[in-house]
Amino acid sequence: MDTLSNSLAAADMAHTLHPNTNLRAHEAQGPMVIQRGEGIRVFDDKGKEYIEGLAGLWSVGAGFSQKRLADVAYQQMLKLPYYHTFTHKSNEPSIRLAEKLAEITPGPLTRAFFTSSGSEANDTIVKMVWYRSNAMGRPEKKKFLARTKAYHGITIASGSLTGLPVNHRDFDLPAIPVRHLTCPHYWRFGQEGESEAVFTERLLAELEAVIAEEGADTIAAFIGEPLMAAGGVMPPPAGYWEGVERICRANDILLVADEVICGFGRLGTPFGCQKYGFTPDIMTLSKQITSSYMPLAAVMISDHVYAPIADNSAKVGVFGHGFTASGHPVSTAVGLENLAIMEEQDWAGNAARLEAQFQGGLRSFADHPLVGEARGDGLIGALELVADKATKRPFETVGAVGRMAAVIGHDEGLIFRAIGDQLALCPPMIVTADDVDEIMTRMGRTLARLTDAAH
Ligand code: PLP
Repeated sequence: MDTLSNSLAAADMAHTLHPNTNLRAHEAQGPMVIQRGEGIRVFDDKGKEYIEGLAGLWSVGAGFSQKRLADVAYQQMLKLPYYHTFTHKSNEPSIRLAEKLAEITPGPLTRAFFTSSGSEANDTIVKMVWYRSNAMGRPEKKKFLARTKAYHGITIASGSLTGLPVNHRDFDLPAIPVRHLTCPHYWRFGQEGESEAVFTERLLAELEAVIAEEGADTIAAFIGEPLMAAGGVMPPPAGYWEGVERICRANDILLVADEVICGFGRLGTPFGCQKYGFTPDIMTLSKQITSSYMPLAAVMISDHVYAPIADNSAKVGVFGHGFTASGHPVSTAVGLENLAIMEEQDWAGNAARLEAQFQGGLRSFADHPLVGEARGDGLIGALELVADKATKRPFETVGAVGRMAAVIGHDEGLIFRAIGDQLALCPPMIVTADDVDEIMTRMGRTLARLTDAAH
């Protein structure tokens, strides 16, 4: 086993360029190679067991050993391993999945466009929205509104919508017209003495001011994650989404819900927008759509978004956008089966039932000397570590303590994501009450050891 581990690590260090990784540090420390999974657990190449507290990348809702998904993929590969959806061609799994998504998504979302990743889906949305504005004779209406700390992907357009410095710096992004508004995280961005309600009002006033400054006729869409996840797990303040929706409607600005993480039950409701009371015109879905067993994402649009796009395709001759893998039959077959499992196991209900225990567990760490805020909704949450609890002062070298926590967490058998010094948890949707207890026990041991290590 050790020879295998050593040769795997050496090959990885020699030949893989890792995403979202300090590449020079990786050359020295090498990879953590995960070899197999079972339920909510994964095992590394030395046989060590971990609870996957982030469900991979916020995505493996069904857990790591759902045989039904493997069987469906195998059967679909035998029957029709590939077919495309260009030029009027189609295939049964992609048709059935589009129909299913139209049925279960809220509001007027009736049509699905499939891609392989969330980034491609958000790039597709930018292009669809531009195409639509041109089709409607409004070529000036192109700008997007997003938020600082948002995560919408890393391709040229989606990476521009993302509001995180590391995804922009030295990549020459943003490269499309976008304005990033204040991150709606009350604990960090609320001002001294400002109530949550006044914070919400301030953010909505900012939105109105930016629209007035830019001109509503130049702004095409507002995009947001219902709960901002990869930027640090930040639930919105009360009243925020109702206000954003009202202002967007009043200014003829399309509202895009990026549900790549919040969708499919994560917050205790089928979709995140339902948790916070708004109805989008466009929705991005990915990750838990297949529990990440196959790459797949979907852009869901409503008829009023679709109609001008369809008219324009007839005028131009074709809707000139699409991917080889749009509607891939194996990915969409796995998606269909995964959604059947989601409904049978009632993931949204499970998240709602476990929310108090999960969020209560996180908040029980609020008294820890390094924890500035414990936060989250449903089955997603984070602990933000700070140098000074009273002033919320971050550590001087952002991320060093977070990385230390992740290393100790691994030793304790818990994988979570250190986003700078924010420790994020987002376990598979199949977790039980006992699993949540075990996650909190391991997190507690990690924090206890971290106190000694960090001081
Ligand atoms: N949108 C959100 C909200 C995400 O969290 C992510 C990925 O984490 C993406 C888009 C991008 O998805 P992908 O990594 O599949 O390109």
